[in-house]
Amino acid sequence: MTDITENPHVKEERNGTPAGVPDSEASCRAPMTEELLLSAMPELDAEQIWKFTEYYNKLLDWNSRINLTRITEPSEVAAKHFADSVLGAKLLPQGARVVDVGTGAGFPGVPLKIVRPDIELVLVDSLGKRVKFLEELTRSLGIEAVCIHARAEDAARQPGLREAFDAATSRAVAPMNVLLELTTPFVKVGGASLMYKGASAREELEVCGKALRTLGCRAECVDLEAEWGARTIVLARKVSPTPTKFPRKAGTAQKTPL
Ligand code: SAM
Repeated sequence: MTDITENPHVKEERNGTPAGVPDSEASCRAPMTEELLLSAMPELDAEQIWKFTEYYNKLLDWNSRINLTRITEPSEVAAKHFADSVLGAKLLPQGARVVDVGTGAGFPGVPLKIVRPDIELVLVDSLGKRVKFLEELTRSLGIEAVCIHARAEDAARQPGLREAFDAATSRAVAPMNVLLELTTPFVKVGGASLMYKGASAREELEVCGKALRTLGCRAECVDLEAEWGARTIVLARKVSPTPTKFPRKAGTAQKTPL
């Protein structure tokens, strides 16, 4: 069995208390274990196991102060947040520059970076408290990532962010026709928006014809196996530049989707 404390960053465990968890809180909370992580993601190495364990501890600590997630059981976090997020890893080119739009507590961007350290990661969220969490999380995991507190509609107009990424990722942020307008302006021609969707993926895609044409994209569905249910990543590949009027000003895509 791999010892999670062998990582040089790991803080000392006290009486089995997972690293980073105050004794009082840890005593009423089930710990994340190596077994749970490996049963959800069998290919993790010792360094990655340490990072996901630390991620879990930070997530639960901060979740008691700010609203990050309703999923808190270790086995569910391992499967529904961590393993679900890494499903898209095989769709990212080597060394890809990736922006995670509406990342919340870091999903799917941070787990992707843990299993694919070659990617360059930018995390965008409109909620300041969540961005503070991400800054603290990435620092403690020793992960390089730029954390941006902004609405996607504003960030995608900034030089250095517009049409600057090989891939945009998003999960549980908005309906697909809205999401296309929020994510594809970040993506270079030839890159793709990876939208994590569930059973509704094809239904949502059916009403995206106008959005895809307007934003210069072609979409395909990639069905992935997950123990906990259907996961489809809709991959919208960018074939021509985004017209300068998109994304429209904050809130417009949600009110009047393409
Ligand atoms: N992607 C994460 C996940 O899968 O757990 C978070 C999902 S949470 C339901 C949606 C997140 O998107 C929130 O953190 C919210 O602040 C952010 N968000 C919603 N609209 C946004 C926008 N226009 N620009 C940036 N972030 C946005």
